[in-house]
Amino acid sequence: MDIVLTGTGSPIPDPNRAGPSTLVKAGDTHILVDAGRGVVMRMAGAGSMPMFLGGVLITHLHSDHVCALNDVITTHWVMTQGNVPLKIFGPVGTARFVERQMHALEPDVGYRIAHHDQLTRGPNLEVTDLSPGDRFEINDVAITTAATVHAPVEPTIGYRLEHEGSTAALVGDTIPCPGVDELVAGVDAYVQTTIRDDIVKLIPNEMLQDILDYHSGLGDAAQTAARAGAKRLVLTHMVPAPQPEQYPEWVAMAAEHFDGEVVIGDDLTTVTI
Ligand SMILES: [Zn+2]
Ligand SMILES: [Zn+2]
Repeated sequence: MDIVLTGTGSPIPDPNRAGPSTLVKAGDTHILVDAGRGVVMRMAGAGSMPMFLGGVLITHLHSDHVCALNDVITTHWVMTQGNVPLKIFGPVGTARFVERQMHALEPDVGYRIAHHDQLTRGPNLEVTDLSPGDRFEINDVAITTAATVHAPVEPTIGYRLEHEGSTAALVGDTIPCPGVDELVAGVDAYVQTTIRDDIVKLIPNEMLQDILDYHSGLGDAAQTAARAGAKRLVLTHMVPAPQPEQYPEWVAMAAEHFDGEVVIGDDLTTVTI
């Protein structure tokens, strides 16, 4: 299984980091977790395309995690002519969100159908609202879900993917909680959106101070990885975004709590498990 960090950024615009998303390649099955800014461009960089997706898993409906879902939908539609369904899974509210996205896309869908004889129908979507604890499969990838905690954002869902004996947990924005521990238990790779709470605390900006209470700090992520017995901790959605020369400092801080491998990097960093 390859885990490609297609977007390591956050809501803060960054010239080098796309918004939050992660692409999992499990054999021939490509699964996208979240669809932040620039995701389709980064998927191309990762050797994938929306038309190759077995499914999209959404962790929550914060804009930074879903703002480019419309691009995934449109690109999938145009490249498959709507002959193949795009499966989208997410917490309750996802189906309504996608339905509203489709209203916004109505003019484009009309233009393209009018212009291309080959295109006779609109996007072919299968959207499933999930409840924590739901289990399902995408091809030969087994997926387990659990509730995460990102209040007041509710509901939020984390995912555990299993394929040919390899396991990965991708849990989105959350503070440490039993659901995350459950998904991370013994995994080969635990992908966590992470903030440096020690740095954010020093920034005199009220809206940045607000993010402290609903994200995992670097120490939180490392402690969760250790407690749940993860083999690797993979950092993404880093706030503030580190420069490469700061990566060793992030790794060293995580290593105070966790003695497994810690991965931090640029967009398209790939972890093979
Ligand atoms: Zn969020
Ligand atoms: Zn976020």
